[in-house]
Amino acid sequence: MGESFTSLVLGIFKKCAGRSGCEVCREHMEEDCLFFPEMYRLHDLAEETGTPPDEKALASLVDLCTLCGLCPCQDIRMLVLKAKAARAEEKKPPLSARLLSDARQAGQWGTAFSAVINPLNRLGPVTTLTKKALDIHPQRSLPVFSKESFFAWAQKRGLSAPEKRSEKDVPRVAYFAGCSAGYLFPDVAKAAVGMLEQNGIQVFVPSQDCCSMPLIMEGNQKTAEKRILANLENLGACVQEGYDIVCSCPTCGYFFKNLLVETAYYSDAFQQQSGTDATVMKVPSGSKDQTFTTVPKSIYQNILKDKGYFSGIDPLQRIDLSLKVKDMGEYLLSLQNSGKAAVALRVPVQPLAYFAPCHQREQGMGQPYYQLISSLPGADIKQVGSDMQCCGMGGHLGYKKNFHDHSLAIGRPVLDKLSMESGRTLITDCLSCRLQLQHTLFAPVFHPLEMLQDIREWGNNLKKHIRSS
Ligand code: SF4
Ligand code: SF4
Repeated sequence: MGESFTSLVLGIFKKCAGRSGCEVCREHMEEDCLFFPEMYRLHDLAEETGTPPDEKALASLVDLCTLCGLCPCQDIRMLVLKAKAARAEEKKPPLSARLLSDARQAGQWGTAFSAVINPLNRLGPVTTLTKKALDIHPQRSLPVFSKESFFAWAQKRGLSAPEKRSEKDVPRVAYFAGCSAGYLFPDVAKAAVGMLEQNGIQVFVPSQDCCSMPLIMEGNQKTAEKRILANLENLGACVQEGYDIVCSCPTCGYFFKNLLVETAYYSDAFQQQSGTDATVMKVPSGSKDQTFTTVPKSIYQNILKDKGYFSGIDPLQRIDLSLKVKDMGEYLLSLQNSGKAAVALRVPVQPLAYFAPCHQREQGMGQPYYQLISSLPGADIKQVGSDMQCCGMGGHLGYKKNFHDHSLAIGRPVLDKLSMESGRTLITDCLSCRLQLQHTLFAPVFHPLEMLQDIREWGNNLKKHIRSS
């Protein structure tokens, strides 16, 4: 039996608040997150009254975390995830939350029956019923499923099977599209394939599952583990075959690079593999460029352990994958910088306003799309939003009736800034941010790849979007 929900959440209180707690986030996270201000409020109230917060208050507190990654400590975020999982074990989440967070299943059903679902969802009474059944906020528009998923398109083009006669020295990419691009915005995934192919890269779209981020946000650890294992097997095989793994979704990338690897470097398997002296442990130094330091084993072996959320999964597989995954923007930028890009990028003709999503910023790779576009002669791009601002969507969370208002409250500062940029076309590389921006700003929003890949197709898309918005 694992630790209880209550003790896990109170463990966060102990680390972050009070006389023996850290307290940094009392001021540091006052404006950019709803979780920390509420935690400090509950903590202070408990100090004042001598009564600890009840389970309901703790459950509402944990629901406020979108896992944006903006707070300083990964271990605190992992505790939030563990608490969500413990809560789901103790009290089964409602069916609506389970359905909404199963992005892959929803996407498969949605695209398979899009001819029926999309027109039905435009009928007022059906929309109301669907939203009620799925506990979606009445003001949110239901997602429009693509007639054909990106994965079906890729299969038709023969991209779902690895190239048998692969030429030596031809760079190869296994493309991980993610569920949002796969089922809701396939044009983005097609633009990614187009961009890679134009640059002479052999593209393979391997069998892929949801990265599992929405599942862990609902505490569904068991299903998440199944999906992660399937991805590790399929993507691990690609790595063995010499493919680079490229993700166009910042959340999938953040999940593979940052979350999944969590405490894997503390594992016995990694320590043995690292070949260090038996008296020391080799641990990441905290910098973003894969540097390590050694610490005395006698002091740290009981503190630095692979006992995290994902420690049931082979640590070496987790490390290998995290090192092989590249963000699509990061990959393109490295092609450009190394002089290996085969085609010139198209110069976007409109002035652009770019919002860098939290999960992209948290990968610590700079702002590749911003760098790429701003380096094009004649391009006019302005970055909007600070390093600590989040759109508040939190994937599927923004759709939920109880979270919708929180979602808008988190996003308000940057959404207000973006609303001042009406003369610019909005772009962001996160499709969840795109849904939030479209919902609040009533403006078409594009992925940077749609700007860079084919200006004529982009123009047609723009007309389509303007007509439907
Ligand atoms: S999240 Fe980290 S920095 Fe913030 S209060 Fe907790 S321990 Fe301190
Ligand atoms: S991950 Fe984001 S929402 Fe969650 S506590 Fe940290 S800053 Fe707040």
